[in-house]
Amino acid sequence: MIQVAVLSGKGGTGKTVVTGALAEFLPGKKVFADCDVEAANLALILSPRERARIPFFGLKKATIEKKSCVACGLCAHACRFGAIRNGIDGSFYVDPVRCEGCGVCAGVCPERAIVLLKKQDGEIICADTDLGPLVYAELSPGSGNSGLLVHEVKKEAQKEVRDHDLLLIDGPPGIGCPVISTMSGIDTVVIVTEPSIAAMHDLKRLVMVSRGFSLSLCAIINRADLHGGYAQTIERFCADEGISLLGKVPFDPTIQDAVSKGVPVTRFGCPATVAFREIAANLSGILGEKASDRLKGRNE
Ligand code: SF4
Ligand code: SF4
Repeated sequence: MIQVAVLSGKGGTGKTVVTGALAEFLPGKKVFADCDVEAANLALILSPRERARIPFFGLKKATIEKKSCVACGLCAHACRFGAIRNGIDGSFYVDPVRCEGCGVCAGVCPERAIVLLKKQDGEIICADTDLGPLVYAELSPGSGNSGLLVHEVKKEAQKEVRDHDLLLIDGPPGIGCPVISTMSGIDTVVIVTEPSIAAMHDLKRLVMVSRGFSLSLCAIINRADLHGGYAQTIERFCADEGISLLGKVPFDPTIQDAVSKGVPVTRFGCPATVAFREIAANLSGILGEKASDRLKGRNE
């Protein structure tokens, strides 16, 4: 099974629309995972039928037991994350959003007034779609640990794989912990970028991070005709870096219409859909070579 993640150095590049189009046009049996856990939108395109919800518990958080606390302030002094606050009544309390669960405060408290407790940070949803199984998540408001949740979403999606050929992941934006968690153990990254200086900057950072995982890299330039000159600059960068350019998608208002109606853009015979079909064929060729290389390696 080949694992592919669609990523972008920043949000708003059209990554989920691209993933939805690849889900439709790539051949073979596919499983999908939405690892953009802070804004999981792939479900809006793939119309899932829920099968199961699994509670997600992130890292433990500190809690101060008021009856034992003597308000000495040692814990607030020791917490490097500034998670222990002093209330207007002089009592100390933990800000759960800042708490990283390191346990230092519990170690320094002379009254043993601090305990570390697990709390539910969200849910992982396993579903079926017309194109294959989909695993995605809902993170509770204010909850962190999204890197850990990405890991759990991938783990659940891998359980769905069985005889499937491809795990296609809609990844998170940026280059932070959730992206690192998405990249671990996969084969290929498809980077969705745009013709702009900001997107180029983010593309370079994402390429640099991907290199650390020795992944094969492909790119798609979305809305390529909005700044043709800059699209050429990105094409040259891809060629210099050995990144396979899968294709360019023109700016197409049909995409926005389709997204607002919750309908896959691939249902329309618009210019973007024509481009997506060609992009999927190019990616399929690259993944086919990868699969046969892997088979050869096993037989040698
Ligand atoms: S170290 Fe313990 S006793 Fe002191 S303020 Fe913190 S919780 Fe209260
Ligand atoms: S567990 Fe760590 S991060 Fe959380 S309040 Fe205690 S010292 Fe701060």
